[in-house]
Amino acid sequence: MLIAGNWKMFKGSAETRAFAAAFSAPEGVEAVVCPPFVSLAAAVESGLTVFAQNVHWEDEGAYTGEVSAPMLRELGVAGALVGHSERRQYFGESDETVARRAAHALAAGLRVIACVGELEEERELGRTEDVLTRQISVLQPHPALVVAYEPVWAIGTGRTATPEQAQEAHAFVKSLLDVPVLYGGSVKPENAEELLSQPDVDGALVGGASLDPDSFGSICRIAARIRS
Ligand code: PEP
Repeated sequence: MLIAGNWKMFKGSAETRAFAAAFSAPEGVEAVVCPPFVSLAAAVESGLTVFAQNVHWEDEGAYTGEVSAPMLRELGVAGALVGHSERRQYFGESDETVARRAAHALAAGLRVIACVGELEEERELGRTEDVLTRQISVLQPHPALVVAYEPVWAIGTGRTATPEQAQEAHAFVKSLLDVPVLYGGSVKPENAEELLSQPDVDGALVGGASLDPDSFGSICRIAARIRS
């Protein structure tokens, strides 16, 4: 089971080192953190398994503000998120750019967590499967690819999908693309067990609750218990 912590725009190098000193992953779970770019080196040097929060589709070039897969590999970074809903919502990320980022990162030897998920109004209109189909259709199967199903209405809101909603969406994603699927959206120690117990939930992408080593550690221990 994979438990990934998306730190978003939190934690510089000093806070990253303090987190690493206080955190230990239990046996049987792969715990990954996704710090901001400037804290990647501190995270790697602290012994954490590290993914970046984004990666570009070229090795180098005139792309101000972007970082490439070879640069991440040189640092010892193991993988990258692509297509997080905050990137799609605030920074113009499209299905096409997500696909390019994912394909290039995988070809360059990084692992990838590709994020998908519907908006609240899309769910209310019964369009969840259409949205997931569109977002997944641009991705190619690969042994180092994982999908994170993150209903946008559940990210950072304190609202989570019910275990049944998560299971239904995960089974649907897997019917389109045969890869492990993480659940993301306000996962906390209090709700991790019921979500991670679903048969098609292969782990979690955790935002807010991954910033604290105790709560992230609790989620990892719950995951270890479920799959042991
Ligand atoms: C995320 O950032 O991917 C996320 C799921 O955030 P949160 O757990 O805070 O909802």
